[in-house]
Amino acid sequence: MIQRKLIVGNWKMNPATLEDARRIARKTRTAAAQLVQTDVVICPPSIFAAALISKKNTPNFNLGAQTASFEESGSHTGQISAAMLKNIGMTHVIVGHSEERAAGDTDEMISRRIRAVLEAGLTPVVCVGEKSRDNEGGAHFEFLKDQIRNTFANISEKYAREIVLAYEPVWAIGAKEAMSPEQIYEMSLFVKKVFGDVFGQASAMKVPVVYGGSVTFRNAADIIAIGQVDGLLVGRESVNVTGFVELLKVVDTAKADGVN
Ligand code: PEP
Repeated sequence: MIQRKLIVGNWKMNPATLEDARRIARKTRTAAAQLVQTDVVICPPSIFAAALISKKNTPNFNLGAQTASFEESGSHTGQISAAMLKNIGMTHVIVGHSEERAAGDTDEMISRRIRAVLEAGLTPVVCVGEKSRDNEGGAHFEFLKDQIRNTFANISEKYAREIVLAYEPVWAIGAKEAMSPEQIYEMSLFVKKVFGDVFGQASAMKVPVVYGGSVTFRNAADIIAIGQVDGLLVGRESVNVTGFVELLKVVDTAKADGVN
């Protein structure tokens, strides 16, 4: 059986206008409709999201959010609940992005967000990743282990198969180059193993791991093929619609040996 790939586009605080958001979403949806074995989720700023929900049925194209409140409802000025995101037709939520962690989110807060997203019936795309790499001592392995264990500490095992794990080394986000595909392969196995420490090895075998950090249409095929990840979390290139459409095509046709 062919394993489907998942490409998540994190638009962050882009583009500046609804008109541009509509254009990028429309072109991405059209490209997604041509794909054979790839699912696409775009995560626009929430203010634009409702306007981007289409009546056209493109089963492998969905919308996601960039975060969600861990509260259910009530007096939480400025926040949006997971149930609201689900209500307008979203399917995924990015949780624990490094920019959200840098703005003050702790592992415990992220854990609460994951729970809220799962309880609302949405798929959390949970970001984990080391801030720097310690090639000599390997301290980044310990960092990641703690981060993953703490992030999922309060999540019931019954939800393990609903989670997407996004491995995003923070130093590779917004950078000139991605992590090498060989290192991505090594690290994706490691994060899976630690996920297995929390939820059991059977769940670790099933959890999709996507890689994020300076992915473009140029490096995407090798990351999929050599890195052997289940998909990609794409920042800048996801709003550069020409590049993103090309990226979707190369991922859809990427072969296991790294050659298109
Ligand atoms: C991100 O912010 O999740 C990301 C991967 O960004 P970029 O692709 O721009 O490095």
